[in-house]
Amino acid sequence: MGIADGKRALVIGVANDRSLAWSITQELKNQGAEIALTYQGEALEKRIKPLAEQVGAKVIGELDVTSDEQIESVFASIKKMWGGLDMLVHAVAFAEREDLRDRFLNVSRKNFARALEISAYSLVALARAAEPLMETNGGAILTLSYIGAVRAVPNYNVMGVAKATLEACVRYLAVDLGPKNIRVNAISAGPARTLSSSAIRDYYSMAHEVEQRSPLKRAMKTEEVGGMAAALLSGLGSGVTGQTVYVDVGYSIVGV
Ligand code: NAD
Repeated sequence: MGIADGKRALVIGVANDRSLAWSITQELKNQGAEIALTYQGEALEKRIKPLAEQVGAKVIGELDVTSDEQIESVFASIKKMWGGLDMLVHAVAFAEREDLRDRFLNVSRKNFARALEISAYSLVALARAAEPLMETNGGAILTLSYIGAVRAVPNYNVMGVAKATLEACVRYLAVDLGPKNIRVNAISAGPARTLSSSAIRDYYSMAHEVEQRSPLKRAMKTEEVGGMAAALLSGLGSGVTGQTVYVDVGYSIVGV
């Protein structure tokens, strides 16, 4: 018996086998869930298909979170396929590469708005689309954040502002959806080498520092994000909502 036996999970944000969303997908599969994946654009479709085959997941369609039409179409397909939804994973973020280096002060109005739209507003839009599919049996929604939401991490810049917004969205969504037994949480993950993090200047030297300073004296393993995600999304997390849970080998508790 897995903790996600018989559950239906939609995972948004797998780009390749390094993606945190992929670790979550694998753990949900190990725990017995049925999984649907989306992809952002045709180029990623080719990468996602073989991964989906590995875990017997359904590739449900293209989803760029800035498109209301694509959101509508993906949730219509989920409704048709499963009738409802138990788990939604949002592992999506974007900022222009030029804004992930040097001074935060220089971010343009346009780039600021785009980073917040894709990285934070998208959770609201997806939660709204998921609500009717979760309201009969309850459900759980999970997003991914980073410590740059609450500390000024060098070069993280506008993405930190987007993550702060995202964490606030988690709390407000938890209040709105709680009466329907739909829980909303975030995992604040430690550094992991992925497509997204490679855009942040000096991210890996910072990751090295996390290893040195964290209580566990090692890097976070992406499977550890998968494990906590499965717990928060399943019945094991039934009393937890509106929270940002740190899976960061303890780095966030340490002072100099
Ligand atoms: P990743 O590059 O594998 O995943 C990012 C995903 O966002 C990709 O699948 C990409 O297609 C998707 N995306 C970007 N813009 C999109 C759009 N407009 N529509 C739909 N999808 C879009 O990198 P990752 O590190 O696994 O990132 C997943 C999440 O984890 C992000 O929210 C990231 O901020 C967060 N996170 C990452 C780290 C880390 O160190 N890698 C640490 C903490 C939190």
